[in-house]
Amino acid sequence: MSLSYCVLGSGSAGNATLLTLEHDGRRKRVLIDCGFSPRQTALRLRPLGVERDEITDILLTHLDQDHFYRSWVKLVEHGVVRLHIHRRQQRRAAKIGLNFRHVELFDDDPWPLAETATRIEPVPFAHDDLGTVGFVIDHHGTRLGLATDLGSVPPHLFERFVDLDALALESNYDRSMQIASDRPAFLKRRIMGGKGHLSNEEALCAARRIADQSRLNRLTLLHLSRQCNCPERVKRLWRERAADLLPLLSITGQKETSPEFRVSAAGSRPTSPATGNGAAAPSTAPPRLFG
Ligand SMILES: [Zn+2]
Repeated sequence: MSLSYCVLGSGSAGNATLLTLEHDGRRKRVLIDCGFSPRQTALRLRPLGVERDEITDILLTHLDQDHFYRSWVKLVEHGVVRLHIHRRQQRRAAKIGLNFRHVELFDDDPWPLAETATRIEPVPFAHDDLGTVGFVIDHHGTRLGLATDLGSVPPHLFERFVDLDALALESNYDRSMQIASDRPAFLKRRIMGGKGHLSNEEALCAARRIADQSRLNRLTLLHLSRQCNCPERVKRLWRERAADLLPLLSITGQKETSPEFRVSAAGSRPTSPATGNGAAAPSTAPPRLFG
């Protein structure tokens, strides 16, 4: 029985994370978001030894282009994959032509994913008008929390992201780079105004608090802005403010796929590389920082 995840890429040009859930000798492959074209997704899966048609389900955080690439509409229509969308997104999903025969709508309540009995706990957040959804994936007691495009950190994040073994959280922008950028004022307001993205500081503070009420052995940062962030700044911030969490930390990027992170249950920090593409780093070694 195991849970592992691999960030196929993350940023404003596309987001997708592969989940691999093993139980009773059966393996299920699920995507959280599908922000790359089906072809690009297949290319990113191949080095992991995974074929695109192994993906049975896609959990969507929201329907923005960088989280749902429109060509997936056809694959959903043909029943190749089953899409799970929050009910709040239903009208928008209809507008972009999704056929609801292969779409499962969920509310704020947890539900079991077919075949593996993995419990999916949705956590709604503010993001633009329709909001977005984070997930706690509880695979028989091993728990991964993933949250991106939060806009701000609501108190209920800390009520739901508890007892996690792994955390994947957006760390979108460096505040001083955002302010100094030549972006138009309305865009800066959208990003920094509580319904856009989390800054590096906000992400670190949230991760710190979640770590204190969890048993993390993996911590992954998502959705770094190419224009207004810099992995070096992120590393420096974490070195100064959360050095104890550094051995767990990975920073993902837009172009490259992360290693496949195997999540260990009940606080045991992994000592061996994750399986998959063979490129994974031991988490007890100095941090592998991507992007
Ligand atoms: Zn996004």
